[in-house]
Amino acid sequence: MDAENIFNSLNQIKLIIDKNKNEIEKLDQEIGDGDHIFNIQRGINESLNLKNDLINDSTGEIFKKIGMKIMTTVGGSSGALFATLLIGMSKKYNSKFSDQKNIAIMFTEGVEAMKKRGKANIGEKTMLDVLIPVSEEMNKLIEEKDLKLVAKQIKETAEKGMLATKDLIATKGRASFLGDRAKGHIDPGARSSQLAIEAICNIIINK
Ligand code: ADP
Ligand code: MG
Repeated sequence: MDAENIFNSLNQIKLIIDKNKNEIEKLDQEIGDGDHIFNIQRGINESLNLKNDLINDSTGEIFKKIGMKIMTTVGGSSGALFATLLIGMSKKYNSKFSDQKNIAIMFTEGVEAMKKRGKANIGEKTMLDVLIPVSEEMNKLIEEKDLKLVAKQIKETAEKGMLATKDLIATKGRASFLGDRAKGHIDPGARSSQLAIEAICNIIINK
């Protein structure tokens, strides 16, 4: 996992988010304030703009600097939360580990940091309904040699988590103001996180 891989993954995330822009925008209009797509696109663009500055940095530094950039430039709860995820991830990179092992360990740490920062957990109709099951699945599959299988399983887990937010009541974030009325709508952050995970899984599946 070097700068080239990381920025290539970010490019794929940009493509999938741009393609699903209208849907994500509508989801946050339904149960939030409509700015989620703007926050996500801003975060992706600010991160991609760092490519030339970070191309020779170590993997841990790249995650940390992207996280810090998102923290200082992206608004909304999602800005601070994604920044926390990335900065958390940066702390666990170990150049002696395989990418598979690194990603599982880093992601677990990042998700734990996000849970703490937002005081949220699974079942609260947030992006954590995607991120927590994905981190658990990554750990289960940490020894699996068939990486395409791993990517397919992770992609499915993310989809399941995203869809599960539809029938939940939100207890965190703006959607919590709606009570029962949030039911029947997928959480925007869950959808954008799931799409980002799908983009990365597709890189491996289509190799
Ligand atoms: P804001 O809610 O401030 O307008 P965004 O629209 O960018 O920010 O992001 C909304 C998303 O943030 C929600 O769909 C949800 O997935 C996520 N979110 C909100 N609060 C939390 C939290 N405490 N923990 C995890 N995710 C959260
Ligand atoms: Mg919003």
